[in-house]
Amino acid sequence: MATRWIEETFHADWRPRIRADKVLHEVKTEHQHLVIFENRFWGKVLILDGVFQLTTRDEFIYHEVMAHIPLMALERPRKVLIVGGGDGGVLREVLKHPSVQEATLVEIDQEVIDTSIKFYPEIGKKAFKDKRANVVIADGLKFVVETTEKYDAIIVDSSEPMGPSAVLHSKPFFADCKKALKEGGIFVTQTSLPFHTPAHLASTTKALSSIYKAVAPFVCTQPCYFGGEFCISWASDNAEHHEVPTATLARRAARRDIKTNYWTPGYHTGAFALPAYIQKIVDKASSKPATKRKK
Ligand code: SAM
Repeated sequence: MATRWIEETFHADWRPRIRADKVLHEVKTEHQHLVIFENRFWGKVLILDGVFQLTTRDEFIYHEVMAHIPLMALERPRKVLIVGGGDGGVLREVLKHPSVQEATLVEIDQEVIDTSIKFYPEIGKKAFKDKRANVVIADGLKFVVETTEKYDAIIVDSSEPMGPSAVLHSKPFFADCKKALKEGGIFVTQTSLPFHTPAHLASTTKALSSIYKAVAPFVCTQPCYFGGEFCISWASDNAEHHEVPTATLARRAARRDIKTNYWTPGYHTGAFALPAYIQKIVDKASSKPATKRKK
């Protein structure tokens, strides 16, 4: 049988692809085209509307940084909102923090949750069953307008700004999230690969810096997102949160006894030290230069 290669169709000028040793599930849901397939090296792979979302080989990276960088910056995070994240990876990491009493996950597509539990249960199956998890099937855009709850942190684990995710990269959504944040709470959202899509980081930075007092993106490397640093944007009205000393982070990690394979106190501190080309995008886009860390 001919080998099937599944490729990303997101970039106009290039297309990474992964060999599909076995396609486990393919469906056009009410919201997007979803494929889950197996590859000898990457494990199980989820692709939505032609964009690689996760692989079971490297999902720990993205999910650890999306959860632990905001939550380790807080002394006692109690209530967390996750928008998107239907695979359960961020939820799994958020629930590792003993002080978290409630993690609300708002996912628009039930199929993503169902297929995550069925085809890669090691990511989120246990987290979805945790009594602190509150799973809501809804559009995150509407949820943050209607909610009267206040959260210590809001983590937007969306796909690229296209399809159902497009609204989650808009200024009105960022502003509505701020209304749902406690005083000085932390907001994070993924802003793609600045080397390839600088406009995404620029537009998000511009919008966030007009709403929050402190905007400080950080970076990680996500092997299955082919092409340089992966950037996550951070915003809060409390600028100290992204300046937590490494020693404090280490004390918190020890006290919370959280096992990680990517996040470390030193990585956390360093993640905010942006390469010059990314810092330039941020400084140009924000009305004020991104608050630099004090040494
Ligand atoms: N966590 C993955 C990773 O490692 O990169 C990728 C992100 S996750 C699969 C993106 C999720 O956002 C999808 O499950 C998608 O259905 C969900 N989503 C997209 N638009 C949404 C919206 N408007 N409201 C809530 N969830 C949305």
